[in-house]
Amino acid sequence: MSGAFDVGEDKITSIKSYIIKIPVEIRLSSGEVKETSHLITEIHTSSGIIGIGEGTPYAIRGKSHSNIYNAYMLCRKVAKELKGKKLDEAKDMLPRVQERFMEKSFFDYAPFLALETALLDAISKLSGVRFSKIIGGNFRDKVPVCGTVFLGEPKRMAETARRWVLKGVKHLKIKVMGKKEIDTVNMKYIRDAVGFDPLIRIDANGAYKTVNNAINAINNLEKYDIAIVEQPLSWHDLDGLRRLRKKIYPKIMVDESLTVPSDIKRIAEKGAADIINFHPSKLGCLSVTRKAIEETVNLGLEFMIGSAVMTGIGVAAHLQLAASIKKLHYPNEEVGLYEMFGIDVVSNPLKVTNGYIKIPEGYGVGVKVERRKLERYSAGMDLFMAPILHAAYCFYQKFPSSIKRIVRKV
Ligand SMILES: [Mg+2]
Repeated sequence: MSGAFDVGEDKITSIKSYIIKIPVEIRLSSGEVKETSHLITEIHTSSGIIGIGEGTPYAIRGKSHSNIYNAYMLCRKVAKELKGKKLDEAKDMLPRVQERFMEKSFFDYAPFLALETALLDAISKLSGVRFSKIIGGNFRDKVPVCGTVFLGEPKRMAETARRWVLKGVKHLKIKVMGKKEIDTVNMKYIRDAVGFDPLIRIDANGAYKTVNNAINAINNLEKYDIAIVEQPLSWHDLDGLRRLRKKIYPKIMVDESLTVPSDIKRIAEKGAADIINFHPSKLGCLSVTRKAIEETVNLGLEFMIGSAVMTGIGVAAHLQLAASIKKLHYPNEEVGLYEMFGIDVVSNPLKVTNGYIKIPEGYGVGVKVERRKLERYSAGMDLFMAPILHAAYCFYQKFPSSIKRIVRKV
């Protein structure tokens, strides 16, 4: 179901895409992240409206790897198909184009999220219909959010957790290493700093590896009152997740285990999880994600709208998605680069107040891109390099997997 809108004969005249890179400091169990990459798109229409959107690289796990250059090149390909189309026509065809491209090895979800957001932004501005209404409804004007605590020194992790709680956040996501000695100390510092009121979810990103190891480590954290464990085992180990679910007290949330919409049914049938985390760029088009969330709820599972550390554009898009859904089971996870690192490319960054982010009023996705900032973080040289790096990537995709493993190590 979507809200009625009228965009007349307005057509897409051009689509611009940018790669931006933002310096960050993020520690995960898999290693350090020193910069985040973002695909920003602008859709220009014949009436002079500009729609903006954002996606972050996300490939189908187990099928292909991806990076920002691949996402950028794919975006250029898809943009060619949309150019000249009427806005409502482009909106209807984009999910189908996504499905068609999913068969190819250079697929990445990011361009579809970025392009659909930009399309909806333009349609909302042009028709005077709220963004959330176009995708399905307008059920709230503010969205509760959760706070993420990345790995680090226990004192620093506790300080971050406390900072979120002081902002009124009631749901904390704490990254864990999957190592009992380290995680127990971190959790002690965090509970000492925030008390037992905030709900704590731990995210292992698959680090526990085996069911027994997970049972041991999770039960060991019992006194810190962990409500949810996110992705304790590897993404493909649904049998392991089902066995683990029967043995531990916290609920199990899967994140990486969702790679294509049809995974939802498999996860539900296996009884592998209680909750599915819908990472923003994971299923591409917001309309595809929204439909997948409906299916999740119909199958008796809970859902959360996840995060990828995005700019204000991505934050706003996911607030709009949350606004379009009648009942949210959990707060939104995406609070954006501004709240975490004080950096953004929009002139009206979205801020957390009393545990909520207010959905911007008016039409469009709700944020304005500041050209100066976009240029500052824009990877100009990378745009020149993108076709070369993409070609190298496509070549690499043809290697047998044993050679790929060696190349990845290098
Ligand atoms: Mg996760």
